[in-house]
Parts: sequence; C-alpha cells; structure tokens
Amino acid sequence: LSERLGGVFDRLTKQGALSEDDVKTALREVRVALLEADVSLPVARDFIKAVQDKATGQSVTKSVTPGQQVVKIVHDELQHILTGDEDPGALKIDNPPAPILMVGLQGSGKTTTTAKLAKRLKEKEGKRVLMASLDVNRPAAMEQLAILGVQIGVDTLPIVKGEDPVAIAKRAKTQASLGGYDVYMLDTAGRLHIDQELIAQAAAVRDVANPRETLLVVDGLTGQDAVNVAQEFDDKIGVSGVVLTRMDGDGRGGAALSMRAITGKPIRFVGLGEKMDAIEVFEPSRIAGRILGMGDIVSLVEKAQETIEAEQAEKMMKRFQKGRFNMNDLKMQLEQMIKMGGMEGMMGMMPGMGKMQKQMEAAGMDDSILKRQIALINSMTKRERAQPELLQASRKKRIAKGAGLEVSELNKLLKQQRQMADMMKKMGKMGKGGMLKQAMK
Ligand code: GDP
Ligand code: MG
Repeated sequence: LSERLGGVFDRLTKQGALSEDDVKTALREVRVALLEADVSLPVARDFIKAVQDKATGQSVTKSVTPGQQVVKIVHDELQHILTGDEDPGALKIDNPPAPILMVGLQGSGKTTTTAKLAKRLKEKEGKRVLMASLDVNRPAAMEQLAILGVQIGVDTLPIVKGEDPVAIAKRAKTQASLGGYDVYMLDTAGRLHIDQELIAQAAAVRDVANPRETLLVVDGLTGQDAVNVAQEFDDKIGVSGVVLTRMDGDGRGGAALSMRAITGKPIRFVGLGEKMDAIEVFEPSRIAGRILGMGDIVSLVEKAQETIEAEQAEKMMKRFQKGRFNMNDLKMQLEQMIKMGGMEGMMGMMPGMGKMQKQMEAAGMDDSILKRQIALINSMTKRERAQPELLQASRKKRIAKGAGLEVSELNKLLKQQRQMADMMKKMGKMGKGGMLKQAMK
C-alpha cells in the first residue's frame, strides 16, 4: 500500500518551473497525437505554438511531473478552443414555428440527424415538430424520413410528387403555421461533392424558409475533408452550427478541432450511432480527451488526474500526521469516496484504512449512507465540525433534524470520526519509522 503511495509522492520532488526542454519533449508527443487524430497540419502547428508559449515558465504543480503538467495545459487549451460561447444543445426555436434547415453532403447523416433532433426536441423540450424532406433527387429519401417519423412519433409533411425543394419548403412553412407546430425541420438533398447546383438549391431554400438554425451535418470520419466541406457551406449558405456524425466509429476527433479552429463554427451535437437516441450535445472535454487519447498521452492524462486526487490526500495526510481528524476531514473523505465510485479507491490511497473499510462494509455502507452522512456534517456549524467532541445532546437533535435524520445516525457518524481520530493519533505517534512518515517519503 505505502509502496503505491510512495510512487505518487516521489513525484513531489520534481518541482519548479517548466523548462523549455520539458515542454518540447511533451509537446512532441502531443503533436504526434494531434496529427494521428487527423487534426490538420496548420491547426496542429498553431496549437502547439500556443501551448508552448503558455506552458514555458509555468510552475509545475506539486505532485505532477512536467509531462503531466503540459498535458493538462494541452487539454485545457483544446477544451478552450472547442468550446463555443453558447450552450451547444440549445437550439433557437422561439417564435413558433421555428424553421431548422439541415444541410450537408449525401450520406453525411442529415436525414438520420433530422429525426434524432426531432425526437429530442419532442421528448426533452416537449415541442411539436414537423419534418419535411426536400430531397427530390432520391424518392427513397423522402420515404426514409416518413418511416423515421412514424418510428419516433413525429409528423412529416405529406409527400407530393413533382414538387421542387423551394415549393416543399413553402408548404412546410404553411403547414407548420396552420398545424400549430413549434418547429419545422427541412431535410435537404445532398450530393457526394459540393457543386453549384447543390449550393444554389440550399440557398434558395434558405431564402424562403429564413431558418433560425442552419445545421451542417458532417461525417466525423472524413477528417480534413469535413473541414473543407464546412468552410464551403458556411461561405455559401451560412451555417449556425455543426453536427458531427459517426463519432461512434473509430474517428479520431481531430476533425472537430480543425473545424472549430478553421471555420469558427460551434459544434452543437455529435451523432453516436444509427439508433434514434444516438445523439448527444457536444462536449468539448470529451473530444479533447479523445484527441489526446491518441499516442501515449492517455495514460499521462489519467495519471495527472490521479495525482490531483493525490494532492488532496497529501493535504489530509499532513493533518493526520499531527493526529488530527475532524468532521471536515471526514466530509472530504466521504465526498471523495462518492466521487471515486466506492470505498476501494479511497482506501487504496490511505495507509492503515483496511480496518475502517471492513467496518464500513460490515455496516452495509453504500453511497446513500455516504450522502446522508455528508448531510449531517453539513448541518453542523463550522466550530462543531472542527471540534465535534463538544456537541451537546440538544445540538445533536437539531443537527439530525436539520439533515432529516435520526440522532442515532449522527451518533454513528460521531463514533466513526472518533475512531478515525484515535487511529490517526496512534499512527502519528509512530514517529519517524511510522507508516505515514514512510508514505510521505
Ligand atoms: P443523408 O444522406 O445525409 O441523409 O444520410 P442518412 O441520414 O441517410 O445516413 C446515412 C447512413 O449513415 C445511414 O445508414 C445512417 O444510419 C448512418 N448514420 C447516420 N448518422 C450516424 C451516426 O452518428 N453513427 C453511425 N454509425 N451511423 C450513422
Ligand atoms: Mg437524406
């Protein structure tokens, strides 16, 4: 056990400012990761440069290595670039009926995404949605949307043969107004490549519909191509956001970064499969992790996260060494247990916890008990938390009541804290050869 801890605290010795060499070494790996993740070369280059400037000379946090520190900076910077100003999941759909125009190349996932978003709007926001297919090039495409509509319980505009996309868009608008819909979604035709006709058609539809949102659907697996497509669509039609599909595949996420860096357009949603629920609001941290997940960086990131926890543990350990353990310590510990999804992880970080662990297990402790205990601690005053031994019976009653629990639960909590404090005192007294001291080396 203390061996494990020893490893963590070993790293404490490596302190000071990040040297240029540290940064360069770490960034070499990051650069490989970015390129492997399909980030375009100029974007990767700019990015590395920005991080380099930011990182050099920054002081290394206690308990992380320079490499980990750089990764943290890289991760934060990635996340920063990927994050738009607005809430990506919030579609502008006030003033019903609000038109949403879906554009993109053929096969990018427009029709699927139209239905997924319609379902989401219906279920999550209680909106009445009308979907219309403007894909007159492929009759099967209109059928496809109608079938999806039935499947998800969302209305589709009846198909009228021989109509052109602009006429369909107009009819959708009328129908949406008359039918009292909140939103109408226009699923346009795509092509394999961008051409004049495709753009002209989309622009004509845009002009009649005057969409509140124009969402560009791009295949996340196409990497750099996706970025060119986005640039072109934005120049010619103007898009308000991007939906990256097929992010369930082994796509590398780099397209997201390039897309954001080059077009400046926010990524709003990601498609994660063929099913109608397989869509999520874009989450920058997840994509950042995915981009960094290439190469050997992932383990570094994980370690960096681990060490942040270790830093907390270290702080506690210093107190314990002096034989202190009050309700604040207990609360921190309980919270960490919940965060770590159980007791194992937390106990693993603390020497001498085996006995407590067994006791807690014997008492049938699970997360709900942890939460109740935290509630009890929360209803104590600052002073009571620092010196729980001073609690009077009347205060105990109040505290338990404040947390909506029985005094007996509070008594159990107090006993637990006393036992821990006793144990800490004993361990602290073990002196230089003691377990805690050993672990601190
Ligand atoms: P459209 O031509 O742009 O309308 O593309 P479709 O919506 O018809 O989608 C083309 C194919 O991609 C269909 O088989 C979809 O099921 C599939 N698809 C769409 N989005 C996703 C996604 O996020 N993940 C996966 N794995 N498949 C998707
Ligand atoms: Mg389609």
